[in-house]
Amino acid sequence: MPLRMILVGPPGVGKGTQSSLLEARLGAKPLSSGMIFRAEIDAQTDLGELAKSYIDRGELVPNGVTIQMMLKRLRTSEVQQKGFILDGFPRTVRQAEALDEELRKAQIDLDIVVSLEVDDQVIVDRLSGRLGCTKCGAIYHRLNKPPKREGFCDNCNSPVIVREDDNPETIKERLRVFRENTAPVVDHYAAQGKLVRVESSRDPEVVYADIVAGIGS
Ligand code: AMP
Repeated sequence: MPLRMILVGPPGVGKGTQSSLLEARLGAKPLSSGMIFRAEIDAQTDLGELAKSYIDRGELVPNGVTIQMMLKRLRTSEVQQKGFILDGFPRTVRQAEALDEELRKAQIDLDIVVSLEVDDQVIVDRLSGRLGCTKCGAIYHRLNKPPKREGFCDNCNSPVIVREDDNPETIKERLRVFRENTAPVVDHYAAQGKLVRVESSRDPEVVYADIVAGIGS
């Protein structure tokens, strides 16, 4: 059975890292709304231009365009076959309701919603040294997990960069936006009995094992 899951959590909690592990080992297709927006920005599309003005300020891109963009990807045959790991979507209750409706119509059941949780200070430390691959999305850290060859991804050799929105001011705003808009999404899925909370300050492999245990339970 294809895996269908959502990873929820503040920026820097490790959603991208866990999403890569889950893809490599369980085969589901990761769908990161942030990565999709960044690809649109790089391709200089109208959607990219619109999204950039919000992303640069650490604010949320409006629900309408975000929902449309993500539902379009959920409908692809690859995602239907492999299942999905949603990372960064839904980020508002309105997005969660739109997703619920889409899955209900397609008669698809979510397997699990994982809320990754850590202290704010850990997030600030992680984000302020974070490096990301421009191509495959692999994540590194300047101090804790530098790439083997400085400036280039271990997996695909593409350049690794600091995201523009990983600066102290924007990080603060993104954390505020998370608390205000996305924390209620966690309650939304807890009420549906789908939620598993995983403490995410530990080693990624330990966090991964807890997620897999949650899927099996
Ligand atoms: P991320 O890579 O998940 O940290 O997302 C980077 C930025 O993209 C966020 O700070 C938002 O500006 C925007 N973004 C990503 N996902 C969403 C979403 N589901 N709804 C609205 N904005 C989003």
